[in-house]
Amino acid sequence: MSFLPSPDQQALVDATRSFVQAEVGPLVADDDRDERFRKELIPRFGEMGLTGVPIPEKWGGLGLGYSEYALVIEEIARVSPAYAIAVAVSGLPQVILARYGSDGQKRRLLPELASGRHLGAFALSEPGSGSDAASLRTTAVRYGDRYVLNGGKMWITHGPYADVIIVMARTGGNGARGISAFVVEGGAKGLSFGRAEDKMGLRSSPTHAMTLEDVEVAADDLVGREGQGFTIAMAALDSGRITIGATAVGLSRAAADAAAAYARTREQFGKAIIDFQGVGFMIADMAIATESAALLVRKAAWLKDQGLPFTQEAAMAKCAATDAAMRVTTDAVQVLGGYGYTREYPVERMMRDAKVMQIVEGTNQIQRLVISRHIARG
Ligand SMILES: Cc1cc2nc3c(=O)[nH]c(=O)nc-3n(C[C@H](O)[C@H](O)[C@H](O)COP(=O)(O)OP(=O)(O)OC[C@H]3O[C@@H](n4cnc5c(N)ncnc54)[C@H](O)[C@@H]3O)c2cc1C
Repeated sequence: MSFLPSPDQQALVDATRSFVQAEVGPLVADDDRDERFRKELIPRFGEMGLTGVPIPEKWGGLGLGYSEYALVIEEIARVSPAYAIAVAVSGLPQVILARYGSDGQKRRLLPELASGRHLGAFALSEPGSGSDAASLRTTAVRYGDRYVLNGGKMWITHGPYADVIIVMARTGGNGARGISAFVVEGGAKGLSFGRAEDKMGLRSSPTHAMTLEDVEVAADDLVGREGQGFTIAMAALDSGRITIGATAVGLSRAAADAAAAYARTREQFGKAIIDFQGVGFMIADMAIATESAALLVRKAAWLKDQGLPFTQEAAMAKCAATDAAMRVTTDAVQVLGGYGYTREYPVERMMRDAKVMQIVEGTNQIQRLVISRHIARG
């Protein structure tokens, strides 16, 4: 067992870091203020291979594992959690299609998504069903060789920019078994979006309500079997929790680095504030929380790469890493004092960005539910 990245993994991390620092770093503060998402950056991530890391090479990906994927997402998030989320969310339809899609769907959709020429989205949540996703009400009714979808989705990350959206809709009775997954293409007739939500953080990642009004898709756009949609969604979210954990680790590293750099140079009472135990211990706790979270994320990714069960570990990694990010970013603001509370320094943005990580892809209460149910089963 190695705790260090292999030379190939390190090369991927270094290349990701140089690219993101140069191409995205200078835009982060202004784009956060202006709530601006730049879709044109996604193909640039694609040229680096970063939009399809775990997708097989035959479908246009890098053919690597979640260990590499998590390292890449962590590195992007150190600079921009919003683009880490953009890449990770666009990965959800790819992971779904790679595992459950037909050969035709893979051939048609995966190369464009894995290369970043197309952007993918994932539509499960609705105004009335968030944590209780199995109660969703969007319907898909079959008429011959077509399905017609009707309903309203909520919180769809970069929805209006997406070229391919995996939509969960009800084809059968109540509950999880009545849900199926469909490919809906961006721009489909009857598909519309509300205004971007005015969010506290992650402001360069647009989030929209989505309406489906008699949206027609071909019968071939059903992913997997009728009634398999909830299983597909939960499998995607299991993997997604590793990337949310990795995003949170990247965010924690950035905040801890910013706090340490400031504390080494800021002087009060004639010495650097890092030399006051009250500040130095806060910085030590940031390092402990960040490293612990990184290890849990790496373990969950490793288990997935070995083909071993990883649901519980992914939930632990997501929960621990996002709770750590909230604590670390909040303490980073504290270390910078009044300056930390202004937009002149990046830590206030990091603190706002961290909060949403405890909510998306299953709130941290739901992660604890997943973990406690596993433990209860013995
Ligand atoms: C920025 C952002 C981006 C998102 N992107 C997407 C996306 O791309 N696609 C998508 O489908 N969804 C997306 N979501 C939705 C996200 O997954 C949901 O917000 C989340 O699952 C919680 O659902 P909810 O907001 O309806 O909260 P609710 O489910 O109403 O929960 C409210 C509170 O009750 C708690 N709670 C609920 N049930 C339980 C329980 N059984 N035990 C203990 N506590 C409980 C929750 O933890 C929470 O604290 C996004 C959300 C945000 C904010």
